[in-house]
Amino acid sequence: MHLSSYEDLRSRLVAKAVTCEEVVRFYLERIDRHHDDNIYITVFHEEALERARVLDRKLSEGGRLGKLFGMPMAIKDNIAMKGSRLTCASKILENYESVYDATAILRLEEEDAIFLGKTNMDEFAMGSSNENSAFGNVPNPFDKTRVPGGSSGGSAAAVANGLAMVALGSDTGGSVRQPAGFCDIVGLKPTYGRISRFGLVAFASSFDQIGVLSRNCDDAALVLEVMAGKDGRDATSSYHAVTDYSKEMSNVSVEGLKIGVPKEYFPESLNSDVARIVKGTLNKLRDEGAELIDITLPDSEYAIAAYYILVTAEASSNLARFDGARYGYRSENSGDLSAMYVNSRTEGFGREVKRRIMLGTYVLSAGYYDTYYKKAQQVRRVFQDRYREALEKVDVIAGPTSPFPPFGIGDKTGDPLEMYLADVFTVPASIVGMPAVSVPLGFDSLNLPVGMHLICNFFEEGKLLGIAKHMQRSL
Ligand code: GLN
Repeated sequence: MHLSSYEDLRSRLVAKAVTCEEVVRFYLERIDRHHDDNIYITVFHEEALERARVLDRKLSEGGRLGKLFGMPMAIKDNIAMKGSRLTCASKILENYESVYDATAILRLEEEDAIFLGKTNMDEFAMGSSNENSAFGNVPNPFDKTRVPGGSSGGSAAAVANGLAMVALGSDTGGSVRQPAGFCDIVGLKPTYGRISRFGLVAFASSFDQIGVLSRNCDDAALVLEVMAGKDGRDATSSYHAVTDYSKEMSNVSVEGLKIGVPKEYFPESLNSDVARIVKGTLNKLRDEGAELIDITLPDSEYAIAAYYILVTAEASSNLARFDGARYGYRSENSGDLSAMYVNSRTEGFGREVKRRIMLGTYVLSAGYYDTYYKKAQQVRRVFQDRYREALEKVDVIAGPTSPFPPFGIGDKTGDPLEMYLADVFTVPASIVGMPAVSVPLGFDSLNLPVGMHLICNFFEEGKLLGIAKHMQRSL
C-alpha cells in the first residue's frame, strides 16, 4: 500500500477502495516487523483495530467524517492518553498509566484520527539523540549505526519508516525539528501557546510545545488546525484565532518572498555538505523569484547557554513531583520518608535527567539566581527583540536545522556539551516562542538526510508551512 499523503488515503477510504481496518493492519504489520528498532514503547494492537472498525461502520452508515478520518498516528510517550501507559521513556514512570487524555489527543480523536501507539524518546524529552531512553536506542532509518535525533526520535523514525502516517512530538528546544531533519521528514513546532499543553508532561513549561512530524506540509497543517486553539485547562494556551492553515499555505508565493539569511547560522565550523545543500536550496528559490537578504542576529552564541540555564531551572521544579509517593516507581529502600524520596529518584531517573535537576537547582539557588537565571531571562528578552526586529524586514529566517548530519550512536554520549550543540540552530525559536519548521532537503554525500530550518513571526504557521512546501517542491 503506497500512501503519498493523507488526502490520498482519505479519498481511497471515502471511495471504499480500502477500509480503515485494512489500513491499520498494514501499519501494525510494519510496526511488528520493525520491533527490534525500539521505535514504539507501546503498540495499541487491539485498540487501534477496534477503533478502525468503529470508523468503518460510521462510513458505511453515512455519519459525519472527521477532518482526520482514518489517519493512522503515533504519539510521543510524554503525551497523556487515558488508560494507557505514559512512560516519558523513564524508569520512574515505567508502569504509570495516565488517568486522563491530553487536550490535543481529545481534539484529534474528535476528528477521527486513529492512534497506533506511543513512541520512544529521550527520557523526559531531554536529549538530541534518543540515547537517553530507559527503553533503548532507536536507529536512524537511513543508517542503523547512527541516531535518529531527539528527543522525539521514535516519532520521527516511525514516520520515516512508514510505521505511522503522522506523529506527535514535543519540542522544547528542537525535539521535533532536529529529529525531523535527521530522518528526512517535516517537523513543525508551532508558536508557544498555539496548542494546549494540558496532558503534555512538563519539561520546561515556558518552552514546551506539542509539534507535528509528517512527510509533507499539508498533513502537518491539517493536524495543527485540529489541535490548535484556546483550552481552558492550559492558561498559557492562546486566544489567537485558529485560521485555515491549508488555505494560507496556498496563498504563499515564492515571487518576492523575502528570505532572511543570518550569517550566524552559517559559521565556519558548519559541516560543508550541510552548508552546500542548504545554500543550494536557497539559491534555487532565488532563481524562482525569492529575495535572499543577508541579516545578522547578534549574540546568537549565547543561545545554548541561556537555553540550558532556563530549561534546567524549570525542569528542576517540574520534576520535583516524581518523588516515589505519587507517580510510578518507588524504591525498595524506603525505610523513611527521606530515603523514599532520595532512593526513588536516584534509582528512577537516568543520568541526563539527574544532571539537569542538579544544574537547575544550582542556577536557582540563592547565591546564583541573579548571576545565572536572571541573566538568562534577560538574554531571552534580547533574543525576542532581535527576532522581532529581523522579521519586520523579512518574511522568514532560514538556515540549517542541525550543524551536522545524523551522528553515530555513542559518538556524543561522553560529552554533554558536545551533545547540546546539536540544538544550536533550533533553540532560538524556542527561546523567543516563534513557530519554526524543519524541511527535508535530501541527502548528503554519505546519503544522510539534511534539513532546512525556517522561522516565521508569531502565529504565522500557515505562511511558514506554505514557504516550507515551496522548498520541498523546489527540490
Ligand atoms: N535537545 C534539547 C534538549 O535536550 C531539546 C529537547 C526538546 O526539545 N525537548 O533540551
